[in-house]
Amino acid sequence: MDLDRHDFELDKLVEKIKANDNRLVALQIPEGLKMQALEMMDSIEDESGARVILAADPCYGACDLVHDKMQMMGVELVAHMGHSQMNIDSGMPTHFIPVTYDGDPELNPVLSLLESHRAIAQSRLEAVSEQSDMDEETAKERFLDAVGRVAPLTGIKLGLVGSIQHLHLLEEFKGRLEKAGFEVEIPVGGDRLTFPGQVLGCNYSGDDPSIGHYLFLGSGDFHPIGLVLHTGKPLAMLDPYSGDATEMSLERIERILRQRFGLINSVDEANSFGILIGEKPGQMRRNLAIRMKRLLEKHGRKGYLLALDHISPDLIDFYPVDAYVNTACPRIAIDDSVRYAKPLITPYELEVALGEKKWETGYQFDEIP
Ligand code: SF4
Repeated sequence: MDLDRHDFELDKLVEKIKANDNRLVALQIPEGLKMQALEMMDSIEDESGARVILAADPCYGACDLVHDKMQMMGVELVAHMGHSQMNIDSGMPTHFIPVTYDGDPELNPVLSLLESHRAIAQSRLEAVSEQSDMDEETAKERFLDAVGRVAPLTGIKLGLVGSIQHLHLLEEFKGRLEKAGFEVEIPVGGDRLTFPGQVLGCNYSGDDPSIGHYLFLGSGDFHPIGLVLHTGKPLAMLDPYSGDATEMSLERIERILRQRFGLINSVDEANSFGILIGEKPGQMRRNLAIRMKRLLEKHGRKGYLLALDHISPDLIDFYPVDAYVNTACPRIAIDDSVRYAKPLITPYELEVALGEKKWETGYQFDEIP
């Protein structure tokens, strides 16, 4: 990672610390930046005169605020890097730093992908939609189809999204894409998202039926996998770090859908479930967990509510239950289920397994609103 090209905005943070006369400040930073943490702590301490505590536990999102623990230590301000504010009340002053990157990739490498994706969207727009009297086999096939399962489109606009480090590029890219002949929308999502065009691994709420395909500005496939699982729409990726243009393969999404299909079938005979509740403030879905417990009871099964901060195989594999339902970060069940000894499914998947939701409505991504 080229750190000189990232803006950590330490000067603004120092200004804020001085203006507030904060004496004790906590720094919470994502895993990829932890190597630089000590250097940043030195610089903040030298320039502000405050003491800095690093909240050194793993941190993967703004869902994971450490405020209660830091408050107990007497911390007056938390500086949270790499993410933006969510719709959760942290209970203490927080300074969010997006850590923007100044890379500005060429558009040309991605244009042919976007043209082919627009053609796919156009063909879906024209396709005959909805088949109401589906037999069980067709319904299951629809579940496994990465694109055929999605509600009918009303348009073929290009949805332009990105991860937080690159959101400042979106307006400029919108103009460039429009010049290249695309009708572009920067989708605005719900309260969990702070900026237009922002996506999280658990929230793609800006999606709407007038968007037929997507361009993601960012690196890695974490957000793209979630977006395509959620929307079923073709997605091209342009990486501001490398300039590379790629696409999220539908085969890959269908492999994930097949795996989810297998897990749903595997809990058919399960009698007892551990229902995982995430303790991190932005992952805590207690009501959903209790609803899952009631649902299991209705179907004559047993559910045990288990609350954890970090969820990992060594903390749950040993409980004598047949399977787990995860209500914490949705990506634990989707991305990590192979690491667990027992089936680990999402609440929606449990509903399908119990016959409360139908296969033919197609796969529903477990979104936290
Ligand atoms: S709940 Fe999971 S996907 Fe959502 S922001 Fe937190 S870590 Fe990311």
